[in-house]
Amino acid sequence: MKSSGNSKITALYFTKENQKLYSCDLAKNVFLWELPSKGIKSHFSPKKQAYVCYLCLSKFKSKRKKHHCKRCGQIVCPNCSQNRLILPNLHYFIPVRICDQCSRILK
Ligand SMILES: [Zn+2]
Ligand SMILES: [Zn+2]
Repeated sequence: MKSSGNSKITALYFTKENQKLYSCDLAKNVFLWELPSKGIKSHFSPKKQAYVCYLCLSKFKSKRKKHHCKRCGQIVCPNCSQNRLILPNLHYFIPVRICDQCSRILK
């Protein structure tokens, strides 16, 4: 990863939990770099095993409709994960998807 011109990287943050790299440049743009997470243990439930939403228990019709809550790691449907929040404790400095249960706790 090489930066050139005026897009100088001023800050880097790497989250071990989900193998994501955040970078911030001089213009205060934050970029998210997704890294391969093979063999890395995470608190996220495997999406393959989930067939119902953790909160409303509605059945998933396709893989695309499954979403991870970035806070609790549970798999929820789009209806139950409409909130986005910054989670500095979990090293998320850009708003990420959280489930309705977590948004109630955090409010
Ligand atoms: Zn749901
Ligand atoms: Zn949650």
